[in-house]
Amino acid sequence: MSGQDSPWDVIIVGAGAAGLFCAGIAGQRGLRVLLLDHSDKVAEKIRISGGGRANFSNRELDPQAPHRHFIGANPDFCRSALSRYTPGDFMGLMTRHGVAFHEKHKGQLFCDRSAEDLIQVLLREAEAGGVVRRQPCRVTAVRHGADGTYALDTDGGCERGRALVIATGGLSIPKIGATDFGHRLARQFGLRLVDTRPGLVPLTFDGDGWAPYTGLAGLALPVGITTGAGRERGAFVEDLLFTHRGLSGPAVLQISSYWTPGAPIAIDLAPGTDLLAALMQAKGTSRRRVANELATLMPGRLADAWVQGDADWQRPVAEASNKALARLADRLARWQLVPAGTEGYRKAEVTLGGVDTRDLSSRTMESKQPGLYFIGEVVDVTGWLGGYNFQWAWSSAHACAMALPQGHSSG
Ligand SMILES: Cc1cc2nc3c(=O)[nH]c(=O)nc-3n(C[C@H](O)[C@H](O)[C@H](O)COP(=O)(O)OP(=O)(O)OC[C@H]3O[C@@H](n4cnc5c(N)ncnc54)[C@H](O)[C@@H]3O)c2cc1C
Repeated sequence: MSGQDSPWDVIIVGAGAAGLFCAGIAGQRGLRVLLLDHSDKVAEKIRISGGGRANFSNRELDPQAPHRHFIGANPDFCRSALSRYTPGDFMGLMTRHGVAFHEKHKGQLFCDRSAEDLIQVLLREAEAGGVVRRQPCRVTAVRHGADGTYALDTDGGCERGRALVIATGGLSIPKIGATDFGHRLARQFGLRLVDTRPGLVPLTFDGDGWAPYTGLAGLALPVGITTGAGRERGAFVEDLLFTHRGLSGPAVLQISSYWTPGAPIAIDLAPGTDLLAALMQAKGTSRRRVANELATLMPGRLADAWVQGDADWQRPVAEASNKALARLADRLARWQLVPAGTEGYRKAEVTLGGVDTRDLSSRTMESKQPGLYFIGEVVDVTGWLGGYNFQWAWSSAHACAMALPQGHSSG
């Protein structure tokens, strides 16, 4: 062991949102904490999140109804942790550290200045807990010894811990250090995994089928968007963004977490507007072309592109048949399309699936393997866009940190 004979009370692998937060709380409870990360930087995902301002939580989160904002085989799994460490608790922490923040759209909470302020809060908390941080440090093997401790072979030597917390996150954005370490370790200890796939990710479409829409790249507008059915149904009203390869923007990122390959998505391009009534009224009173009428209800570029789909839509609205206008209104309100795929982990904000919650305690995050804990995104709990994923990182880290047993060596 490097530098000490008795094992650490806990070794935490992954110095991202969940790992750093867990380390600080455990340290401040008096545990001797070693925090390892293979990257030389901490919390890179916090740094790039929320456009550099970290959407760190959400005021609309209801800990009693996690299925409203969380996806996973058992969304109720996160109720216990979310109720014991709430968005209000995290706001309190930010306030105590003098970090100014504000609320945006739909309860989303952002740092006023920079995500860096949030990282500094976590680092100061870890420092207050006397956490020993080692970076960059690669873990090459993990063994569970007969004495109940975990031995980690690292490129800085062997380390032993009475408890081991895995906070290595999901698979998205490999170029800033995401790995499947947590999933492999879960498998090594016989825990079940829920299949992983990218979430909160732009959707792509086939080249030929998408050709009519490529000219719309850069256009954004509010839409209604749905996919799936029953418990698996997702439905949002958010902004849509046309890109060169497909669709993005909050509406598509949200729906992507519900989308399964091969399934259609339906988009209402004028939510809250009775398009047919508006077009029929225009037919009786207007001398303008259909596209010009439509442009009063949605962006002109979209209206122009849309009417190219049918010769009947390219005439003055007064000359268009009722049937043609009904068809137009219906196509705009129920645009059905089947994505070819997603932009993948390279662009995804989160990973769906992960360590199966059936093998974890919802109170402590300890797995069926005694002394081995999983927190944050590595677990099969995925939040909506809007600060829910960071709140899960904080709440699961807190539940774990409060449950970790005090070691003999602690004061
Ligand atoms: C571009 C982007 C923007 C986002 N914006 C938001 C937002 O505004 N609000 C929100 O709620 N969520 C946001 N998210 C999601 C959020 O960042 C994650 O859900 C959250 O960081 C998960 O926390 P975590 O601690 O579980 O994992 P991470 O924060 O990803 O931390 C994992 C840590 O483990 C380390 N690690 C990985 N593999 C190994 C290994 N083999 N050995 C040692 N260390 C390892 C990594 O280097 C990393 O430091 C965003 C994600 C992305 C990609």
